[in-house]
Amino acid sequence: IERENRSERQRNRLVVLAGPTAVGKGTVSTYIRENYPDVLLSVSATTRKPRPGEVDGVNYYFVDDAEFDRMIEGGELLEYATVHNAYRYGTPRAPIEKALAEGRSVLLEIDLQGARQVRRSMPEARLIFLLPPTWEELVRRLIGRGTEDQAEQQRRLETAKVELAAQDEFDYRVVNHDVATAAREVVDLMKVRAAPSRP
Ligand code: 5GP
Repeated sequence: IERENRSERQRNRLVVLAGPTAVGKGTVSTYIRENYPDVLLSVSATTRKPRPGEVDGVNYYFVDDAEFDRMIEGGELLEYATVHNAYRYGTPRAPIEKALAEGRSVLLEIDLQGARQVRRSMPEARLIFLLPPTWEELVRRLIGRGTEDQAEQQRRLETAKVELAAQDEFDYRVVNHDVATAAREVVDLMKVRAAPSRP
């Protein structure tokens, strides 16, 4: 029984959070980083440019194409993909291995292609798919955040349809009605404790 428990704990430690554009993956991940400090939120490398307010090393490691190629060739990335037919994104391997070795839980917020690669290379990972309450709500959130022009919104909604069709590949589905509840459900699947609430 002890051994079963141990492998159960290990399975809980690496968690992938995927889901369609604008479903709130980023918001849920940030909420977890701020409220559950035991969890390492993986910082991806990307070739896209920073948006206003994004900080290098916090939101992403912003790199150019040559640097991204170098990371691939050096075997530094656990997975990588071109997302929305535009920029490349990848998960640095070293910080994850370090955190797992220290017994910490790790959360990856990545796209469907990345989730599939992690499933292959680390079968013990748990895959969570974040769902919008409805399709209409997803469209509303995407248009509401106003970070993409119309052509880009259209492209992302096409990708979202493909991603939603793959939800059965995931171990768990969490509906994002509100951020705190969705974050709690994700963290419950990692079996880590919340930070003591501040007075
Ligand atoms: P954004 O440019 O809006 O920050 O992210 C676009 C998409 O890239 C999101 O769907 C996000 O989940 C995905 N993404 C971010 N980092 C990674 C990564 O390291 N690997 C993969 N495969 N996808 C990522």
